[in-house]
Amino acid sequence: MIAITESQPLTLEIDSEQAMNSLGIGIAATIKQLDAPLVMFLCGDLGAGKTTLSRGILRGLGHIGAVKSPTYTLVEPYDPEIGRVYHFDLYRLDDPEELEHIGFRDYLAEARLCLLEWPEHGQGFLPQPDLTVKIAPAAKGRCVTLETCSRLGQLLADGVKAFKIPAINC
Ligand code: ADP
Ligand code: MG
Repeated sequence: MIAITESQPLTLEIDSEQAMNSLGIGIAATIKQLDAPLVMFLCGDLGAGKTTLSRGILRGLGHIGAVKSPTYTLVEPYDPEIGRVYHFDLYRLDDPEELEHIGFRDYLAEARLCLLEWPEHGQGFLPQPDLTVKIAPAAKGRCVTLETCSRLGQLLADGVKAFKIPAINC
């Protein structure tokens, strides 16, 4: 089950892995309607659920097959119908400047969607995100906060609101 508050930023109570997957599918449904490149930051401790949410988004975009954590590879590419998706995990980045050496700008230029776990490790070398998703432990499951940083991000959050149901605090 997914519960929603009316506060701004949008806060959701996601009480299971399955509900996290559904949230991802809901986000994907809106992404498909927006004809523009998007950058999403996924924040939260190890085990928060960042990869789980990314998996839901990729499934919702129509990707079939495995979605493995990019912790060791740094980035995993996908090609669903909307175009190229890059799923980054910057946890193991020693220095944000390494992003310059791996050609991060080129990745960004060709991405229809860029999902970034651990954006804190790339500080100073990343663009402004459209949407920042913050995931924290909750009494049951996870508390997920959506912070919008652009008009597109706001449309994404609005899409999640429309997709979801009742209101409680998390
Ligand atoms: P991260 O990428 O943030 O390190 P993962 O996505 O790998 O975390 O998830 C870690 C664990 O948390 C997984 O076992 C997953 O099933 C579980 N999990 C994810 N979302 C939720 C949720 N909303 N409620 C309960 N467990 C969850
Ligand atoms: Mg992860």
